[in-house]
Amino acid sequence: LTVALLLTPVASAQAVPTLTRTEAETRARVVMAKMTLDEKIGQVSMAHFFRFLEGGRSGPVAASAGSSFAQLLPGAILNGGGDTPQPNKPLGWADTLRSLEELGRQHLPGGVPAVFGTDSVHGVGNVAGATLYPHNLGLGAAFDPALTREIALATAQDMRAMNMDWDFSPVADLGRDPRWGRFYETFGESPWLVADQITADVLGLQAGGVAATLKHFVGYGSPSLGRDRADAEISLRALHELYLPPFKAGIRAGAMAVMANSGSVNGLPVHASRTLLTDVLRGELGFGGLVVSDWNDIDRLITVYKTHADLVRAAADSVNAGIDLYMVPYDVEKYAAALKEAVQGQLITQARLDEAALRMLTFKAELNLMDARPAGSGVLADHRALAKRAAAATLTLLENDSSALPLTRGRVLVTGPAMDSAAIQLGGWSVNWQGVGRGNVTYVPKVSTLAAALKASAPAGVSVSALPDGKRGALLKAAANADKIVLALGEAPAAESQANNPNLALPDSQIQLLRDVLGTGKPVVLVLVAGRPILLPEDLRNRLAALVMAYLPGSEGGAALADALYGRAGFAGRLPFTWPGSLGEAGLSADRPPEGAGEAPLPLYPLGFGLDYTRFATSAVTASTVPGGVSVSVTLKNVGEKTGTGTFIVRTSLPPTGNLEAVKRPVGVVRAVLKPGESRTLSLTVPAERLEAFTGDVFGPVTGSVLQGEYRFEVDGKQAALTF
Ligand code: BGC
Repeated sequence: LTVALLLTPVASAQAVPTLTRTEAETRARVVMAKMTLDEKIGQVSMAHFFRFLEGGRSGPVAASAGSSFAQLLPGAILNGGGDTPQPNKPLGWADTLRSLEELGRQHLPGGVPAVFGTDSVHGVGNVAGATLYPHNLGLGAAFDPALTREIALATAQDMRAMNMDWDFSPVADLGRDPRWGRFYETFGESPWLVADQITADVLGLQAGGVAATLKHFVGYGSPSLGRDRADAEISLRALHELYLPPFKAGIRAGAMAVMANSGSVNGLPVHASRTLLTDVLRGELGFGGLVVSDWNDIDRLITVYKTHADLVRAAADSVNAGIDLYMVPYDVEKYAAALKEAVQGQLITQARLDEAALRMLTFKAELNLMDARPAGSGVLADHRALAKRAAAATLTLLENDSSALPLTRGRVLVTGPAMDSAAIQLGGWSVNWQGVGRGNVTYVPKVSTLAAALKASAPAGVSVSALPDGKRGALLKAAANADKIVLALGEAPAAESQANNPNLALPDSQIQLLRDVLGTGKPVVLVLVAGRPILLPEDLRNRLAALVMAYLPGSEGGAALADALYGRAGFAGRLPFTWPGSLGEAGLSADRPPEGAGEAPLPLYPLGFGLDYTRFATSAVTASTVPGGVSVSVTLKNVGEKTGTGTFIVRTSLPPTGNLEAVKRPVGVVRAVLKPGESRTLSLTVPAERLEAFTGDVFGPVTGSVLQGEYRFEVDGKQAALTF
């Protein structure tokens, strides 16, 4: 094996796109000119890779795969959300995908292989041994786009090592309702803060040689009552001020693909919305790349939304609305037949089909798939140091009464289901779709768990005992011998609708464990490993000595937590969302409702909140116009005794619009790592587009512009005014 690896050329990460759009399109046109109708239809269909494997799910590429290629003509192949070929063999991927690429070169028109896409949403989750990073919500808490970019680059390099071409990432949806199952896949609630992360993610992925996908366009993150794929009610103002900015940023960064929202907006399924997929996405945002559907969503127009009675019409409306490539995992033949009928019956013009096929071929040219490419090495790089640094940047300290933390001396008992569970720590989209070790996957990924890390790295004077899944009696006994208890609770790994958490709750058994542990009377440090804010019963929360939000911290979460709990590192994370105190507050956000309205409830912990072992003071704020925007400056000073990361959100209040109610809008972040006593003046240039307000009728066409009047810029409650 080692010899074979040495002989395999190592893929050098070549940034994509490799050609300019015009060059790529020219090459694509030459290939397309020779294609038949069936071949073009093949180009705009994406099949599941199980179709080409022996036994359907596992094992190598089937002997008959060549004829499947000749018959299905797949323009694209995907692996939905997980599942590894040849379980337990990391190399299975590189070999499998190389074989599929070769088959494509032999059997597909023009020798252009199918492009392979997958969901590597926090590292290459479905490859045995891959390093997994914190899910996006944690990266949102780090408020460090440079870190996000580094992780995206590392992910892309691992993907290319496995011959993967295309990542269905990043999620550009906003986390506005924590009950929503996919809240943890977002970078948080605030459009422009998320936009900065999206820019970084796209740049990192594409620098590493894989295509990025902005998903899910648009409004997918706000389904009613937080139920995945329920209808989203979105006003025109919210569309423009909240939901479009992250997509706008990703498109500007060069994202090669956009995936459509599988849900509906204002009752209109997005997959059939020409307004959203063409007028807004292409017209207003200027997107020129590939629009891919979400999983089976043209069929869902018939089966779920019931807007259409048959696949021919559903296909026609969807393709005419703007879908270029249909992610049609299994029934590719049926879709091909329907699309052909739609084109022959002139429900879709030849020109529109050509446009979609051309976009797919252009995408492949940009990915360098039209030329022989170096084979991926099949070897994953060791990214554990990066994963640890990333996890450390996310950790958010919410309570620390009478300085329960750091743990510097005495006997520590660590317990709770999240103290040593790879599954809980990694969350969904890890190893397979829902989490670790289900389905046909039997290996357990290598993770640093909290219990192991606390034990392995205890400083002198601290002794640690770990009690896994203890019975009540054992727990009480162990607690009697401890000075402090670290309790790790968390959500079971899940994806999509199965991850919905309508009560923001942990299982009853975990709440009972918390009650028992608090009942011992020992100081309790609660570590939450969860993809959303969790509502704890108030009487229990009030008795905690400390509360740490760890999000879903990934492979090195345990090591990072141990450093922070022992005080070797600070708590650098700040909440990227508003933490509600009750279910009634779920959906509160920093930009809505207006402050000062009297009835507006204050959240339990606001956006940007987080304690540390040190404190920061801020100076007066200044604001001045600079080309393209406004420069806001503030001096941060570390006034505590430990080095720490000062992170402050810059907000702006807009002048009166004359009609729409006022909001205080987060527009960026100032952040610096400072030693005790150190101070630094930080400046943030707020681009003018972040000051725009939509002043039209919310029921009619809206226009964005910077308003005339006084804007106020605020950091840490201090303001500077500027009049335009
Ligand atoms: C999800 C997408 C994902 C796709 C492929 C869908 O169910 O909504 O986010 O990219 O599956 O796995």
